[in-house]
Amino acid sequence: VLSAAFPLVNVAQRMGMQVQETEDRVRIYSEWTQLEFKLHRREFKMNGVQVFLGEPVIKGQKGLYVSDLDVTKTLRPLLTPQIFKPAPKLRRILIDPGHGGKDPGAENDRLGYNEKTATLDLARRLKKILEAQGYQVALTRNDDTFISLTRRSEMAVNLKADLFISLHFNSAVASVSGIETFVFTPQNQPSTSRSTLHRSDAILSPGNRFDAWNLILGYSIQRSLSNGLKSPDRGVRRARFMVLKNLECPGVLVEGGFISNTNEGKNIGSGRYREKMAESIASGVTFYHKTLKRVDPDS
Ligand SMILES: [Zn+2]
Repeated sequence: VLSAAFPLVNVAQRMGMQVQETEDRVRIYSEWTQLEFKLHRREFKMNGVQVFLGEPVIKGQKGLYVSDLDVTKTLRPLLTPQIFKPAPKLRRILIDPGHGGKDPGAENDRLGYNEKTATLDLARRLKKILEAQGYQVALTRNDDTFISLTRRSEMAVNLKADLFISLHFNSAVASVSGIETFVFTPQNQPSTSRSTLHRSDAILSPGNRFDAWNLILGYSIQRSLSNGLKSPDRGVRRARFMVLKNLECPGVLVEGGFISNTNEGKNIGSGRYREKMAESIASGVTFYHKTLKRVDPDS
């Protein structure tokens, strides 16, 4: 165990939620919300959407436990966003189409296109939708140019953006498909790709100021994407991506599917599918904004 643990029955009790417990599963629920945990698993489901914890669920005298840090950094933001007052405002959005210029990103030679082309097209579609909703929207690039990762987050800071959305597509062995939404890893937790702590995990970065809102945003976007597209839900994940590290506003990095997968790659290559994806991300932003406004009506 990486840190002190907290019984899930106590989480439910504090939130005034019901509990259903078996040997290796806990379901915490109220009228509107349902969380499902499994013993030894690091991912759980929040209203059907997969979210990764920093550490796996363990067993103790009072049933199943999660770490204290997972209560603070994941469960509290999702269940009681109002305790993270003040809520950030949301007017200005910077969209970041991943890669560009000499850096093509993931490529599918058989389908004949690459990640940098798909992210730029998706970014332009998303910009149009969000502008129609009244947001001020800018892009880190609007053509096929190379921009460094640090420059991308600097642009968010200089622009005083209230929200940063980086757009990417994935590549792996051909069988893998699905959508992932990444937020910056909290201090003293391992990123989702690792199970053990490294010394570098103790570093606190500017992006950590928004741990709670990052997660609420990541959940909102992953929820909309997995509802809107018929693609496997690979969950809200954590990584210390350079583009998220120095942000002074909440931010996410969307991996909108695997270019390397034949079916998903074909979908990503279609304009209609990318339009649907842009609509899903935009409705995730709307859902996030609703949460902000519930906490602070001026957001
Ligand atoms: Zn990428």
